[in-house]
Amino acid sequence: MNEKKSDEKRILVTRSSMPPYEEYMESVRDLWDSVWLTNMGKKHNELTERLKDYLKVENLSLFVNGHMALETVIGAMGLTGEVITTPFTFVSTVHAIVRNGLTPVFCDIEPDNYTMDPDRIEELITDKTSAIVPVHVYGNVCDVERIEKRAKKHGLRVIYDAAHVFGVTYKGRGIGSFGDASMFSFHATKVFNTIEGGAVATGDRALSEKLDMIRDFGIKDEEVIGYVGPNAKMNEFAAAMGLCNLNHTDLEIGKRKEVFDRYMDRLSEIKGLSLPKPQKDVKMNYAYFPVVFDEKVYGRTRDEVKDELERHNIFSRKYFYPLINEIECYRDRFAHGDTKTAKRISDRVLTIPMYASLEKEDVDRICDVIAGYRI
Ligand SMILES: *Cc1c(COP(=O)(O)O)cnc(C)c1O
Repeated sequence: MNEKKSDEKRILVTRSSMPPYEEYMESVRDLWDSVWLTNMGKKHNELTERLKDYLKVENLSLFVNGHMALETVIGAMGLTGEVITTPFTFVSTVHAIVRNGLTPVFCDIEPDNYTMDPDRIEELITDKTSAIVPVHVYGNVCDVERIEKRAKKHGLRVIYDAAHVFGVTYKGRGIGSFGDASMFSFHATKVFNTIEGGAVATGDRALSEKLDMIRDFGIKDEEVIGYVGPNAKMNEFAAAMGLCNLNHTDLEIGKRKEVFDRYMDRLSEIKGLSLPKPQKDVKMNYAYFPVVFDEKVYGRTRDEVKDELERHNIFSRKYFYPLINEIECYRDRFAHGDTKTAKRISDRVLTIPMYASLEKEDVDRICDVIAGYRI
C-alpha cells in the first residue's frame, strides 16, 4: 500500500470556471457608467438572448438561481396533488415540489444512466397526479421520448430538472427544448456559471412571459400586480459573469472531455467499477464523473474508497447519498416508494474530481489511488 503523503496537492471534487480577471473587469466597467445594477438591465437581456441561441431554446427566463427557477415554474403551471419525481437527485428538485404544496411520488431509476425509469411511471399515476419532474442526472439525458409519451397519454405536464445538462443536445435538439419546461442551474459549481443563477427554458411563450413577471414580485406594470411572486431576478454582475464565461464554455467542455477520456482509459481496466456510459445521439457536457463501486468484485466499499482518496488529499463526493426519500425532512412525511435501483446506486456511487482545469497528472494520481486500493 502507498505511504501516507499528507503533503500531496489538494484536489477538490470541483472547481469553478472563471473568465480572465481583466475580461470580467472590463465587462462590469459599463455598470459604473450606467449605474443600472439589476432589474432586467442590458447584461441580463444580452445574456438571455445569447443563452437562447447557445441552448437552442425558444424562450428563456433568467433567475437568481436554479432552485428558484424550478420552484417558480412549478408554481406557475398551477399543478395540483401529486408529482412523480426521482429520489436520486439533489434535494432542490424535491424541495421545489414540496414548497409548492405538492406531494412528491418517488419513481425508481434506470441502472445504466441513473435517470427516471419510464417503465415505472405508469404504476405511480393516480387521479391526483398532475406532472412528472425527471432529472437529467450527471449530464445523462432522460429517456425523453418514452417519458413524454406516457405524460401525453395521461394528460400530465413534464418539467425537467436540467441543472446538469448545460449545452447538451439530443438528436441535435437543445435538451431544454423537451417537455413543457426545463430548469438550468448556473451555480458556481456547474458547467456554466453566473456565480449564482438559473433559468427556465420553455417552448410556451405565454408561460415564459408569466415567469418574467412572477420572478419580479408578479409585477405586470407599475400599477398592476398580477401574481403573488417572490424576488428571483438575476442581477447585472451575475449576468456579466455569465456573458464572460459563455465566451469560454466550448473550450471548457473540451477540456472536461480530455479529463473524461483519460478517466475512461485508466479506470476501464479496473474490475468492479461502473463508469459513465455515453448515450446514443447525445452531445455530452462531461459535467460529472460518477463511479459505482461493486464491493464484491473491487473488494472495497464506496465509503472506504472515499476515505482512501482523502488520505491522499483527494476529495470526492457521495453524490447522491442519501436518497431524497430517506432524508430527515421527508422520510416520515412521504411514501418512500419502491426505489431499489436508486438505493443500490446511492449506496455505491462516488463522484470523483471533474472540472476543466484538472491536470492530466492529477487525473492519473486519482486513478493510481483507485487502482492501487483494489483487493
Ligand atoms: C444545482 C442543482 C439544483 C439547484 O440549482 P441552484 O442554482 O444551486 O439553485 C437543482 N437540481 C440539481 C440536480 C442541481 O444539481
